[in-house]
Amino acid sequence: MSIPDKQYGFFYTKADGLKLKEDLPVGKPGPGQLLLKVDAVGLCHSDLHIIYEGLDCGDNYVMGHEIAGSVAALGPETVGFKIGERVACVGPNGCGICRECRAGLDNVCKNAFLDWFGLGYNGGYEQYLLVKRPRNLVRIPDNVTSDQAAAITDAVLTPYHAVKLAGINPTSNVLIIGAGGLGINGIQIAKAFGAKITVLDKKEEARKIVKELGVSVYESLPSDVQPGSFDVCLDFVVVQPTFDLCQKYTKPKGIIIPVGLGAPKVSFDLGDLALREINILGSFWGTSNDLEEAFELVSKGLVTPKVAKAPLKELPTYIKKLKNNEYEGRVVFNP
Ligand SMILES: [Zn+2]
Ligand SMILES: [Zn+2]
Repeated sequence: MSIPDKQYGFFYTKADGLKLKEDLPVGKPGPGQLLLKVDAVGLCHSDLHIIYEGLDCGDNYVMGHEIAGSVAALGPETVGFKIGERVACVGPNGCGICRECRAGLDNVCKNAFLDWFGLGYNGGYEQYLLVKRPRNLVRIPDNVTSDQAAAITDAVLTPYHAVKLAGINPTSNVLIIGAGGLGINGIQIAKAFGAKITVLDKKEEARKIVKELGVSVYESLPSDVQPGSFDVCLDFVVVQPTFDLCQKYTKPKGIIIPVGLGAPKVSFDLGDLALREINILGSFWGTSNDLEEAFELVSKGLVTPKVAKAPLKELPTYIKKLKNNEYEGRVVFNP
């Protein structure tokens, strides 16, 4: 495989936003590093929060944080990977040596803060990605496509981590709000964990897809559902009204996980939180071990991420479409 010196990609700066550049350098892997040929990269709502709302994830980097590729070149002393092997990036890009990383909690590595793939550090909206720490690559199972794999690194991994964090099991009664890119996979994961699930979504199209999974879905909760009914509420939207709904309908000692980033801040009813000992848990992306497990779920057919594809240069069109809610599920791009 001959590797070019220059490549195209979508580069983000705070001053100019996301811009196509035709002359980005292709990195040369140093000791312990490797170069990835990007095969597929997913577009995510978080990208919109950065581009349109100024969510601060650093400056001067190639965006695209849902990345699947194949190993194109190995740096000196890089071991454990073969040229051509298909791998996916664990977005949080943990350092591997801090206390959190050593405990398997590499999604909250402090040393990698804003050094995340496509969020601070370079990501997949380019043809070749220099991977500084190959420990943050996970092999893609043979029966999972690279397009699916890209989507799995966030749209499956993030809800998977949240479902595990909430301890969802066959006795859990779970409310899921929002059946979009992440929520629709969260529903399948919670189902694979054996939970009883109720889903809310305002969009008829989204409700149709949930119904096909054999899961109860409504525009708003039916009147026979009592406040304090759910063990776990997973909110994939997170604006004040959806958060309020979660608090009202969570059982005493229940768990609310606000997974979405719909509002920069939400408030909670402190009295109710204290009296009923409600737990609000933060959940960030997922660990490298979670990604291996998420691949296993998809490989076994328990979760099927819905993925559409497009050439990477059409990215700006799809960013607008996503902003205008013109599609459901995930679109991945092939550079
Ligand atoms: Zn994302
Ligand atoms: Zn670390």
